[in-house]
Amino acid sequence: MSASSKFLAVGLAGVLGVTGAVLGGVPAAAHDGRHDGGRGSPVTAELPKVPTMTGSGGAVSSVDPLASQVGIDVLERGGNAADAAVAMAATLGVTEPYSAGIGGGGFFVHYDARTGEVSTIDGRETAPATYTEDEFVGTDGEPLDFETVVRSGKAVGVPGTLATWEVAAEEFGTMDLHRLLRPAERIAHRGFVVDENFQKQTAENAEKFRLFPESAELFLRDGEAPEVGTVFRNRDLARTYHTIRHRGTEAFYEGSIAAAIVDESREPTTAEGVDVLGGEMTAEDISSYEAVPGEPTHTDYRGLDVYGMGLPSSGGITVAETLNLLEAYDERTGTGLSEVSETQYLHRFAEATATAFADRNRWIGDVEGVEGVEGVPVEELTSQEFADERACLFDPAAAQDRPIPFGEPDGDYAECGTSGARQPEPAGGVSTTHLNVADRWGNVVSYTLTIEQTGGSGITVPDHGFLLNNELTDFNFAPLTPGVPDPNLPGPGKKPRSSMSPTIVLKDGEPWMSVGTPGGATIITTVGQIITGHVDRDLALVDAVAAPRLSSRNGASAGADLGLAESATGAELGALGHELTDLEWIGNASAIRILGHDRFVAAAETERGFGGSAMVVRPER
Ligand code: GLU
Repeated sequence: MSASSKFLAVGLAGVLGVTGAVLGGVPAAAHDGRHDGGRGSPVTAELPKVPTMTGSGGAVSSVDPLASQVGIDVLERGGNAADAAVAMAATLGVTEPYSAGIGGGGFFVHYDARTGEVSTIDGRETAPATYTEDEFVGTDGEPLDFETVVRSGKAVGVPGTLATWEVAAEEFGTMDLHRLLRPAERIAHRGFVVDENFQKQTAENAEKFRLFPESAELFLRDGEAPEVGTVFRNRDLARTYHTIRHRGTEAFYEGSIAAAIVDESREPTTAEGVDVLGGEMTAEDISSYEAVPGEPTHTDYRGLDVYGMGLPSSGGITVAETLNLLEAYDERTGTGLSEVSETQYLHRFAEATATAFADRNRWIGDVEGVEGVEGVPVEELTSQEFADERACLFDPAAAQDRPIPFGEPDGDYAECGTSGARQPEPAGGVSTTHLNVADRWGNVVSYTLTIEQTGGSGITVPDHGFLLNNELTDFNFAPLTPGVPDPNLPGPGKKPRSSMSPTIVLKDGEPWMSVGTPGGATIITTVGQIITGHVDRDLALVDAVAAPRLSSRNGASAGADLGLAESATGAELGALGHELTDLEWIGNASAIRILGHDRFVAAAETERGFGGSAMVVRPER
C-alpha cells in the first residue's frame, strides 16, 4: 500500500499541530486525564499503519504511525536523522508508554554521512551507588522472587533516555530538545486514539497497575484497560515534557523531576494493603548520570560491514558471533546458507545463536573497571577465528545438546575447542521498542529504547505521567553457575547486561540497512534472522521482518512463532533434535534498506503487535 490520501491529508500540520489543525475522526469517548477538566481539545489524528513504503526524501519505521509521522514531519522540515529519531522516541514515550519513555534507557546507533563513522550512545540505566553483588538475594540466601522485584522500587535504575536524546541532539542533530519534544508534548496533551495494541498491553498490565494508585488512575478506566477507539490523554506527561523543553534536562536530572523519581523509587506509593520493596536511588545517583558516547561493535558478513551496540549490551557482540558462525558453517559444510533448505537454514541459525548465547552468558556484562574481574573480550568474541573454532561443534544432521558449553575467547584457537562447561539460560523479559531513520543526506539512526518489561516496574512518577523502568532485573540475581564468574551480577553504579541490538549495516562504505526490534533476549535472534533472511534467503525486507521466528538461546527449548512449531518445517527441526515452544509473537521489528543515494525501502511488522508503521517523505507511485 502506498501512502493513503488520509495519511497525506493529515500530514505534518495535524501531528505537529503547527497550524493548530488536527484532523481525524472524533472517537466515541474520550478519557481526559484527571487535570483535564473536559475542555474537549481536539484529538490527535488517527493514522493508518502502512508496513512498507519505498521512496525518497528520508525514511522512518517504528511500531507506531504517530511516531513515524512525527519523524517524517521533522525530516520534511529540514531535520536530519538524529533530529527525527529524538522526536520519534519522545512520541513513543507518549503512545507506547509501556515500552519506552523518559523513565527508561536505551541504545542509539548513528551513521554520520559526513565522516563515514558509525558511533553509539549508551543510555543504559545504572544501579544506585549502594547496590552490591547480592542485592537481589534474600536473608535466606536464596535469590528474591523475580516478579516481586519487577514490581518494586528496587528494580528501578537511574533513567538514561533523556540524557541520550540530549547527547544525540547535540552531537548529531540540528534542532534542540525544545523543538524536538514539542510534537510529543502536543500529542500527550491532545490525546491519541487507543488501538488494539495499547488496549492489550494495558489489560496485560492492569493487575500490576492496580498496585500503584498513580498508575491505575493514569492508565486504567474504572480499574480496567480503556476501550479501543477511546482517547487517551496524558496531561501530566505533557507538562513534564513542557518543563523539560523550557527548563532543560537539568529539571529531570537535578530539579523537581529528579526529586520525584528519587522519592517514588525509594518508597513507591502503593494501594492500601500493598507492600513492595523500595529502592536506594539518591539525588546524587541521578545527578551524576551521563549518557556515554562510544564505539560500535563490528563484523564483516559476506562483504557487508555490520555495526552493533557494544557494552553493556550483549546485542552487537552476539549478533556478530552468530553471523560469523554461519559463515564458518558454510566453510565447514561447503554449502552456503542461501543454497540449503529452509529447515537446514533454520537448523544452522539455531545452532549459531545457541552457541553465541553460551558465550554471551559466560563472558558479557558491565565489568569494565570492576576490581578483580577480567574485562569482556569483545575483539575475540566478534572475531572470525573464534567463530571458526566454535563451529566445530556443528553437525548438519543433529542439534547439539543444550545447553551448549561456552567457549574460550582467548586468542589461541585450534581446530576445535570448548570449555566443556554448560550454563543454564538466564531469566529475561520481552518488551521495548525500536525505530529507524535514514535521511536524504545519508545519515542513519537505529535506536532501541525500553523500560524493560512491558509496563516497567508499574510505578508512575506522581504528577509526571511516566513509568519507571525495572531494568535492574536484567542483572542475574545470583551467579548462573556456582563457582563460574558471572559478569552480570549487580554492583554499585553498574549497568545490567542488555540484549538490545540496534544495528546499522554498510556496504562498500555506504549505509545499506538499519534494523532492530524489541523482545528481551530474543532481540538478538530476531535481528540475526532478519539480516540473514534478507541477505541470504532472498526475502524482501518487509518479508524478512514478517518471517516466522526461531529463537534458540541455549535453553532446552527454542521459541518459535506464527505457527512455525506446528509446520512441516517445525516437524523437520524436531527430527533434527530441536525442541520448539510455540509463542504468540517474537519481537516487533522494523528496518530500512537504503537503496542508493536518497532512495529507501522502509519496513515494519505485518504480523505482530497489530502491525507497524513505515513511511518515506516522498513515496514512489
Ligand atoms: N531489558 C531488555 C534488554 O535490555 C529489553 C527489554 C525487553 O525487550 O525485554 O535486553
